[in-house]
Formats: sequence, structure tokens, C-alpha cells
Amino acid sequence: EASPEPRSGRSAALRARMEERLLGARFRYLNQQLYTGSSRDAARLFRTDPAAFHLYHRGFERQVRRWPERPVQRIVRYLRRRPASLVVADFGCGDCTLAASVKNQVHCFDLVALSPRVTVCDMAKVPLAAESVDVAVFCLALMGTNLQEILGEANRVLKLGGTLMVAEVASRFEDTHAFLKAMTQLGFKTVSKDLSSSYFYVLEFAKTGPARPGAAPGLRLRPCLYKRR
Ligand code: SAH
Repeated sequence: EASPEPRSGRSAALRARMEERLLGARFRYLNQQLYTGSSRDAARLFRTDPAAFHLYHRGFERQVRRWPERPVQRIVRYLRRRPASLVVADFGCGDCTLAASVKNQVHCFDLVALSPRVTVCDMAKVPLAAESVDVAVFCLALMGTNLQEILGEANRVLKLGGTLMVAEVASRFEDTHAFLKAMTQLGFKTVSKDLSSSYFYVLEFAKTGPARPGAAPGLRLRPCLYKRR
């Protein structure tokens, strides 16, 4: 690189700041794509550009670090209160913090493997037998527009009476009541809901039966778009 100026501390700092901005802009763009396309689009995006995935994750980490608590820690606490014999499926596992923090067997699914524990796949179609897991987890991972299909897949792999845990950004819920009602159509009854954090909600469901076919119009979440900072 030909730089007309000597690399003073000031120009290095300026360069670092510009790089940060560029990364921030790319993160926001990728994030928007993940929330406004289907899970298949997301799978295609990261298959063709794995570097984008790593960039996305750096941006995600930076966002979540600002929060008073990481939602995944809530899921960890929940699982530690329950028998370690329960088999867990972590949809959109990211860096596998959950699997690394509990004794349970955890099937980790994501689009790219940040850890050797990850099974790479689209969460709308995971390689698990029907009714084979006790707990399905979506921690900040309900990203595609095909929510019904994604949650239908969780229903398929869950045993009857099994638990579905959802931790999602609070501002994504347009109408929480309608969302919970739609979940009953998908074969899930609400067991508990913690709406106390202004950052994220934690919802616990139990599988009551298979998902019923037909549209579930209440099943909508706003995309989680980050502001430029
Ligand atoms: N659950 C982790 C990571 C959350 S970030 C945590 O709480 O720390 C959301 C994750 O979902 C990302 O790793 C992203 O790659 C993954 N994801 C998004 N769409 C997906 C899809 N269609 N299939 C599998 N994983 C997906």
C-alpha cells in the first residue's frame, strides 16, 4: 500500500475507525437480509459467502455485549434447574455457548460451524428423528420469514410434552398475545413468559401435539434492525 503520509498514531486510529464503520455497515446489511428473507435464503447467502457469516457473528457479539445479560445465560440457568438427562436441540446455536455450559446432550445447528460441535444445516430441516428431543431452543435465532416452517420443525423433533424455549428481542413482538395464540395452532401451549426485560423476552412452551395445518397470521415478528451508532 502506498500511503502518502507516515503512519502516525493518528492516521492509524482514523483507519481503525473507518474499518469499524465499514464492518458495522456490512453487519447491519447482513442482519437485515437474515430477518427479511427465508431461512433458505440465509442458508444460500452463507454457503456462497462464509466470510459474511464470520463478519455477522462479530457484529452480533458486539451488539449483545452491550446488553445487561446475555439471553443464552437464561436458557443455561433454565436447563441447570432441570434433569441433565434431557436431550436438547439448539436451533441457531452460534458459538455453542449453550452446549458448552450444560451437562445435557445438545444437538447444535447453525448455517456455518463456529465450533466442531455444530451440525451445519438450515434450521427449517434438521437431521433429527421425529419426537427425539426433550427441549428445543431458539435463542435470538427466529430469524427467517418462514417462522411457521421453522417452529413446525421444532414441533416435529420434540417429544409430546417436550419444552420449547424462545428468547427473542422484545421489540420484535408486534402483538405478543396474537403470537402466543398462533403458537397454540402450531401445537404449543404457553407454560411461562418472562416479559420483564426491555431487551428480550423469554417464552417457555410445551408441545401439546402436532402443528395444525393452515395459516397462523399472528405468527409475526418484526425484523430486528440495528441502528447505526
Ligand atoms: N443462539 C446463539 C446465537 C444467536 S445469533 C446465542 O444466543 O448466542 C442467531 C444464529 O442463528 C446465528 O448464528 C445464525 O447463523 C443462526 N441462523 C440464522 N438463520 C439460520 C438458519 N436458517 N438455520 C440455522 N441457523 C440459522
